[in-house]
Amino acid sequence: MPEGDTIFRTARSLNQALGGRLVTGFETALAGLARVNDDAPLVGRMVERVESRGKWCLMHFSRGQSGAEPLILVTHMLMSGSWHLYRSGERWRMPRRAMRCVVRTEAYEAVAFHVPIAEFHTARSLARSSQVPKLGPDVLAEEFTPQTGVARLESYAREHPEAEVGVVLLNQRVLAGLGNVYKSEVAFAAQVNPWRTVETLTRTETERLVEFALRYMRANVVDGKGDGIVTYTGHRRTTRSMDSEDRVWVYRRSGQECRRCGATIQMRKQGTQARSTYWCPECQR
Ligand SMILES: [Zn+2]
Repeated sequence: MPEGDTIFRTARSLNQALGGRLVTGFETALAGLARVNDDAPLVGRMVERVESRGKWCLMHFSRGQSGAEPLILVTHMLMSGSWHLYRSGERWRMPRRAMRCVVRTEAYEAVAFHVPIAEFHTARSLARSSQVPKLGPDVLAEEFTPQTGVARLESYAREHPEAEVGVVLLNQRVLAGLGNVYKSEVAFAAQVNPWRTVETLTRTETERLVEFALRYMRANVVDGKGDGIVTYTGHRRTTRSMDSEDRVWVYRRSGQECRRCGATIQMRKQGTQARSTYWCPECQR
């Protein structure tokens, strides 16, 4: 599952390449998108901007030539989906049958492969949509501050005192952007046991959780040049080492020694979605 930082990077590269450009072509294998495009064609519209909201990618288009309402192309990557960006004429690195839609400008082709969810929305239908969740503050948004994050976690903890830290960190309605890797890494760095309930968190611990969430997410958002392929290869980094074997503190390291204290890293499934949670029983008592 791509994490919020991956989708953020993807959206930013798409925005750099397509933002402010005229759509010269649109193609889709999805009937739902094709129908909207027949009624209110994408060609001739401007790509106004591309943004991420948690794990969703939103591509905003200006009004159509006939004055049709602005449209938003909403995609969710889930397990297998991805957006690739190619120079016009460049060879795709995925088979054509995996293509779900293509947005062309004069210089670029943005291709969505295998995206399981792709829909056109107007601003109104998006606001009404129950599928696209109302997300908590996005950790990677420019306006996000540690204070915003702490306030959001604390207000959620007042409403749901029994919720476990590891579940809350993944809840996109609380904070948007953290995925399953960072959930464990952030809890480790903050020295908070992910099985504790949020009501037991001190202010300092809450601040540390937010601080590390912000630091790790930002560290993994490397400046893309808006060129070439946009995928989620490339290793996530939370320890300082660049060595791929050595790049995370606890994630997928159950049974191995803690890099800080030498105790054995544990793993257990957590929450109703049974997501794997990794922690050090010594560092995170
Ligand atoms: Zn440890």
